[in-house]
Order: sequence, then C-alpha cells, then structure tokens
Amino acid sequence: MNACVQLPGGALINGEIQRFAWFRPITGKVELLITSPANQYLGRPAWVSAVLAAAIEKIGAIEMSVVIADRLTVGDRIFLMLQLGIRYTGDQMWLTPACESCGEQFDVSVKRSELPVQKASNDYPSALVNINRREVSLRAINGKDQQWLNENPSAEIVQTLLNRCVQTADGKQPVSEFINGLDRKDCDYLESAIQKIGPDVDCTLLVRCPECSVVQEVEIDPYWLGQTQRSNLDNEVHTLAFYYHWSEAEILNLTRERRHTFLNLIDKERACHA
Ligand SMILES: [Zn+2]
Repeated sequence: MNACVQLPGGALINGEIQRFAWFRPITGKVELLITSPANQYLGRPAWVSAVLAAAIEKIGAIEMSVVIADRLTVGDRIFLMLQLGIRYTGDQMWLTPACESCGEQFDVSVKRSELPVQKASNDYPSALVNINRREVSLRAINGKDQQWLNENPSAEIVQTLLNRCVQTADGKQPVSEFINGLDRKDCDYLESAIQKIGPDVDCTLLVRCPECSVVQEVEIDPYWLGQTQRSNLDNEVHTLAFYYHWSEAEILNLTRERRHTFLNLIDKERACHA
C-alpha cells in the first residue's frame, strides 16, 4: 500500500499548504498508543492528534508532530484516521445499528475508502465573507478547536467557534467586539461559512432495515480503529522478550509484520520441541 496520501485540504505550515502525508509502517509503538488506556484520559481530539503524530512520518517535507496534527482541519483529520484504519484493520468496517423504527439490530458493512470525500474550497484554508458591510476573514475548524470545545463542554459552541475562527473584520483585530455585536442570524451565517471552508468526509450511510424495510441514516465513527486488544500486544512483547531477550523499546520498534514473523518462528520452534 502506498505510504503517501493526498489530503483533501492540506496543512498550512510556515505559510505554505502541504498536501501530501506519508504514513510510517505500523509498529508496536503506534499500536501501543492506539490501544493505550491513556486514550480514556486524553479527550478524543487530543488522542486523535497523538495517534496521527505517531502514525504519520511527515506532511510535505516537514516532520509530523502533535502540534501539526492539532492544526489540521477536521476534514483532513477524519480523512487521515480513515486511511490509518485501512492500514491498521482493513478497508471494511462493520456496524451493528439498532433500527430506529422496529429496534432490531442489524449488520451493515462499509468500506472506508468509499466514503465520499469533498475537497476543500478554493479559498482554503481561509475565506472572506461580507456581513453588515464588513469584510470578515474566517479560517477552517481544526483539531485544536475541537479539543477546546471538548475540554469546555459548557461553552456556547457557535460563539466559541466564531471567537476562534474569525481572524479579522475589515482587516482588523481583535474581533471580540465585532462578534459580540452580531445577532443570532449573523452568527449562524458565519458559522455555516466556517464549516464550508475545510474539506469534508461524509460519514452518514443510508441503510434499509432488513426486518421492517425502513430506510434510515446511520452515522459512522470515522475515528474508530477496530476492537484492539492491548493484552494481545502485551503478550506478544512478553513472548519476544522472553525468547530473544530484546528490550521492550526494540520490540515496539518492529513493524507488526516483523513481530508476527518472529512469533511464528517461536511457535514452530515450540512445536518441534513439544
Ligand atoms: Zn426495522
């Protein structure tokens, strides 16, 4: 599988948009992070940044980091997590939604690679709109914005997004006075303009219940990377350390394929001596 993917938006780094991301091979180190109980303590957006920083080697020619992952727009982050999912557990995802009409659970499968991706607008990563005879510069929503909202659940979402994503009004800052003077309709208009700047992946499926035939929408969780068992990884590290006397760090630096090659060799060896 090609290590390089083209982002539907792109990362603004040092004033330039970088549109290509290079994945690392999946090592135990990345798997440890994916399966780590720490993801329960980090909020979801912070965990996504940590996983992307570990799984991706570089964006353009620039080394990937948590800071860069935080600044990626939401659409790019969803796209990259789906790409990581393809590499980690495969293209196909299975969901078991409960029918909204009859309540029966049923199975639905979807391919991550077939979810419709909408590229960013031409103005990306910012846009100019006119409102109340003022020219307002907006930027797309990124991972850091999601993190802020996640950590401040009581915040007024639209107002918060405007305070973070309105860059200038008539070329000037600060913008808080301008935002405070907007009515609800203007706020909603700007919020919807902000939502349209970045790329988007449609994570909604239209499915028919096999029991009652009612057609309904099912939401896919694009950040879901499969049912991963931390204990499996711990067992594998333990077995390799026991037989080869390698350190934990050395074992975690192996790709999953190399790790499994050695585990198969150990199994064969054990079978010979059984
Ligand atoms: Zn039904």
